[in-house]
Amino acid sequence: MAQDCLFCKIIAGEIPSSKVYEDEHVLAFRDINPLAPVHVLVIPKRHLASVAELDPADPLLGHLMAAVQKVAAETGLTGSGYRVVTNAGKDSGQVVFHLHLHLLGGQTLGPIA
Ligand code: AMP
Ligand code: ZN
Repeated sequence: MAQDCLFCKIIAGEIPSSKVYEDEHVLAFRDINPLAPVHVLVIPKRHLASVAELDPADPLLGHLMAAVQKVAAETGLTGSGYRVVTNAGKDSGQVVFHLHLHLLGGQTLGPIA
């Protein structure tokens, strides 16, 4: 757990969240400020600041994507489609420096940037 990391505190149960999925490696919960009818954050339980710190050979990458697919199915997005986006660093507008994948759907989405 990283000191003063909001999402580490959510994983530890110190801050409440609206959980939609959890397994050994991953937690998924609803974004507090949803930008679409379904807006879920999928995060690793291990602290990494962003995808820039993720080794592409790390099995965690597959765990995250498996969780995205499960949450998409459980929230009814599989047929209609969805967007997965992650911010990394200053220019992206990243606010919380614990790697998270935004899963967005439930409506036709606008342009990415
Ligand atoms: P990013 O800009 O990619 O760092 O996005 C951080 C996201 O975390 C934003 O969409 C926020 O709405 C969301 N967020 C911040 N605090 C919480 C919280 N306590 N529970 C759920 N989502 C949060
Ligand atoms: Zn963290």
